[in-house]
Amino acid sequence: MKLLEVKNLKTYFDTSKGQLKAVDDVSFDLDYGEALGLVGESGCGKTTSALSICRLLPKEGKVYGGEILLEGSDLAKLSDDEIRRHRWKDISVIFQGAMNALNPVMNIGDQIAEAVMLHDGLSKADALKRAGDLLELVEISRGRVANYPHEFSGGMKQRVMIAMALACNPKVVIGDEPTTALDVMVQAQILNLLEKLRKELNMGLILITHDLSILGETCDKIAVMYAGKIVESGTVADIFENAKHPYTKKLIGCFPNVEKEKRIPDGIKGAPANMLHPPAGCPFHPRCEMAAEQCRVEIPQQKKAGTSHQVACHLAEV
Ligand code: SF4
Repeated sequence: MKLLEVKNLKTYFDTSKGQLKAVDDVSFDLDYGEALGLVGESGCGKTTSALSICRLLPKEGKVYGGEILLEGSDLAKLSDDEIRRHRWKDISVIFQGAMNALNPVMNIGDQIAEAVMLHDGLSKADALKRAGDLLELVEISRGRVANYPHEFSGGMKQRVMIAMALACNPKVVIGDEPTTALDVMVQAQILNLLEKLRKELNMGLILITHDLSILGETCDKIAVMYAGKIVESGTVADIFENAKHPYTKKLIGCFPNVEKEKRIPDGIKGAPANMLHPPAGCPFHPRCEMAAEQCRVEIPQQKKAGTSHQVACHLAEV
């Protein structure tokens, strides 16, 4: 049995201007100790997919269909109270810019202990001991429990947030742009730490990012999202060495490659799809240099491009 299986997830937002299909028929899975990268431009549905898993959607958002199977149990069927019991203990999230959520007038040990007590019901003394253990897990000396957030660098604060996310030994950790706002060196350290922890703790990791380049070293597999759908998925090698979808190829072209000849990154022309009024046919067709007549009228379905490689493009050669 897989650790997590998301099948045909449909999460829509009911807005005053109509229904917005933020996530439309999305499927992926995750094994113990495995890391999946969800990548795409902002508004493509990657964060909404993650928020649907732990039911942290804004009030306009609702899961309209699909299954979210955690060790075989469907989280989509649980009440709000029941899902609350799974958050932190089974699935926890490290949000973008989470480090800014630390309370500036409370020391780090107390903040971690508070999270532990809230979810694990430990005594204050035991929770403080666990806070020290968690700091060591994220490579910060346990002696720093008495320090306040302003005494930590940005990277250390993000490590503290990772420690909090791990407080109740979750099976799945979702990192939503966890390294945004950190400089490149610190970004690499945080990603290395997440990779080390998921292997040591055998947890599943879902890494959400707009930056495909950070997934190569950190993830086992990648799902590329565009306009609420997965347009290509596969192993890191499938995506980086044998991308089939024009959008994936463009995303790869957006980042400089030190191993290849010097050139200006391509960028992707045009604007992301208007999700309230998505284009007919393939949602990428207004930006796609390969678009043919069929692309303007028919939505491409997933087709197999390899053992674990799938692509949704009429013209992709498989
Ligand atoms: Fe481009 Fe057509 Fe493929 Fe869409 S289906 S990505 S428009 S070639």
